[in-house]
Amino acid sequence: MNNHHKNRNFNEALDYNVSTRELLHVHNLFENKCFNCGSKKDLTVDHHYPLEKGYSLKNLDGSLNAVLLCKKCNQKKSNKFPENFYTKEQLKILEEKFNIKKPIAKALNLKTLIEMKEKVRFSYLGKIYIGIPNRIFSDDSIEFGKKPDKFLEVILEKDILVFPLKNIEILVGAKDENN
Ligand SMILES: [Zn+2]
Repeated sequence: MNNHHKNRNFNEALDYNVSTRELLHVHNLFENKCFNCGSKKDLTVDHHYPLEKGYSLKNLDGSLNAVLLCKKCNQKKSNKFPENFYTKEQLKILEEKFNIKKPIAKALNLKTLIEMKEKVRFSYLGKIYIGIPNRIFSDDSIEFGKKPDKFLEVILEKDILVFPLKNIEILVGAKDENN
């Protein structure tokens, strides 16, 4: 696996908490039109604040960091910050009409992943896993590391996504190489 692929995995992991229903919501919110040019063709959900800079489609407070763009406009926007792509007028509309604002914090950073790797580690059926809670900074994610049954109960109840530890090591390693 080369760096490009590893980073893509890392980036995809940032969006672990976004549901299909929420993606559909973005299409409805923008009335199935590209926000930038109005096209109805090849619509994509764009990370308003860029994924490459560590922003998930879903902010920590549950609000969305997502704008409906056609493929062409999405490619033009690429990994630019919104301020460097949209006009002031467009940014105002996004904020006032669509409630798309600057996220209060990045979704998930390397520090968080490493902290979790240490704290939310548990073993189940002979494999080691770590869990990433829906709310990254909620304290109840780390209490049951040595009680797999309790952990499973909680991940179902609280909608926690669980990765095998091996994957996280790949993800963390990929980011380290570039830092
Ligand atoms: Zn467009």
